[in-house]
Amino acid sequence: DPRLARTDDSWLTLPNPHGVPVEICAAPDVPIESAVVDELLTVVETAATLDAMGARLDRVVCTPDFHKGAGIPIGTVLQTTGALIPQAVGNDINCGMRVEATSLTVDRVRPHLDRLEQHLRHLFFEGGRRIGLTPAHREGLLRDGLPGLLSAGVPSGAEGAWAQVRPDDLAPDNLHAAGHPVASAAGFDDWITSGGGTSYDSIIGSVGGGNHFAELQYVSEIHDGAAAYAWGLAPGRVVLMVHTGSLSLGHQANSTGQDQARALWPRGVPMPRNRILPMLLTDEGSARIGKYLTAFANAANFAIGNRFFLALMMRAGLAAVAGQVDSRLVYESPHNLLWPSPDGTVVHRKGATPAAGPGDTTPWGEPVIVPGSMGAPSHLLRGLGNPRALQSACHGAGRSVPRGSASRGSDAELDAFLDEFRVVTPLNHRDPALAGRRDILDAWRRDLKQEAPWAYKEVGPVVRTLETAGVATPVAELRPLLTVKG
Ligand code: 5GP
Ligand code: MN
Ligand code: MN
Repeated sequence: DPRLARTDDSWLTLPNPHGVPVEICAAPDVPIESAVVDELLTVVETAATLDAMGARLDRVVCTPDFHKGAGIPIGTVLQTTGALIPQAVGNDINCGMRVEATSLTVDRVRPHLDRLEQHLRHLFFEGGRRIGLTPAHREGLLRDGLPGLLSAGVPSGAEGAWAQVRPDDLAPDNLHAAGHPVASAAGFDDWITSGGGTSYDSIIGSVGGGNHFAELQYVSEIHDGAAAYAWGLAPGRVVLMVHTGSLSLGHQANSTGQDQARALWPRGVPMPRNRILPMLLTDEGSARIGKYLTAFANAANFAIGNRFFLALMMRAGLAAVAGQVDSRLVYESPHNLLWPSPDGTVVHRKGATPAAGPGDTTPWGEPVIVPGSMGAPSHLLRGLGNPRALQSACHGAGRSVPRGSASRGSDAELDAFLDEFRVVTPLNHRDPALAGRRDILDAWRRDLKQEAPWAYKEVGPVVRTLETAGVATPVAELRPLLTVKG
């Protein structure tokens, strides 16, 4: 794109009339669509809005997987001073990844994949999950995250998966955050009291549609033996990776944010053309900001809980076919979140993951989880805390084709692909009851084709850029065995 200027092998800048430093982490072999550059140029207009409000857009960094979003590209890290921008977080508040290393090897699991597929279908989609929660569990989770959930006592269900909860599921070095404590969860009373007393929850334990997944993988290559060993990874080791967010709760918290931003809009500042509405971090606004940040934290806590439950369901599936399974949390990390500092700066990550360098609790650097795509390898790296990247890395390969225009390949090719990679979806296309239901099957195939590997960038160049840019360094490569798609 002629609008981008290359500074070195790993970085581009986007000169813009507002003088905002915009840097893009991408080697020459990482494809960049021109639509995302258009979008980025509209995002920097927010500098003028913030100026008029008495705040500042400090800088913008894009990760190698960045691609067009709805207003702000996915893969954008945005730092402001004196204001926060709800839209710079992404709709799915605290969408994130969770990775666990199991005690099983690929050779041990491979012979059981048929049965495992059946069992996971039952657990995820055929009423098998039965996660029984009380209002105290739900409120504890929304207010405090995982510690709040677990302090409400052991919930029933998920086929004894609770028996597998480990002490280091809550070890601080294994999670970016176990929770975001807040005083209230009142905005979500409906969910908290749903079902009266103890009831099987109908929301938690859902994968969520589209690009969300729960995947079984195995370690196919080690790049950094010492870090891999410390994280419990060895060649052939079975790993589970979960990608999900806050489902409907995040959307509710977002509309709270939008409402509060509009109500707080300073008189005299015109509504911005790009429709990105910041909220000033002033005392006058604190009640409204507080209302948004509380709902935000509730949704973020729910997302951490949902990833935890999906992992427990995967553990339960594995235990059903392989007997005793030990599964140890490698890392749980967010990619749609904001980080306010006491000095008034706010870092927003929309589709970008924190990649702090070695610290007291993470001697190898913060684990960075980079999934490839359905059927393609994924990668684990360790963060190097690069300040130029705002200590951020990519959270995937990134779409190469916008959603809605990726339908390529025949139905037969898709079915063969789904069989080969054992993609488990709510609909089982081999179910005889569906024979002849072209309407249902066509819609199902249309959605899945949006998620096929050819709709995504190649993950190799994306990961190599992280390394050459000094953002994160590869630890292990993972190959898929089975993918549960929402
Ligand atoms: P997000 O929805 O958070 O923007 O996308 C996360 C990333 O997950 C995508 O960029 C893509 O690289 C990856 N991804 C999407 N679907 C799958 C899948 O089924 N398996 C794996 N391993 N990665 C996926
Ligand atoms: Mn996500
Ligand atoms: Mn999401």
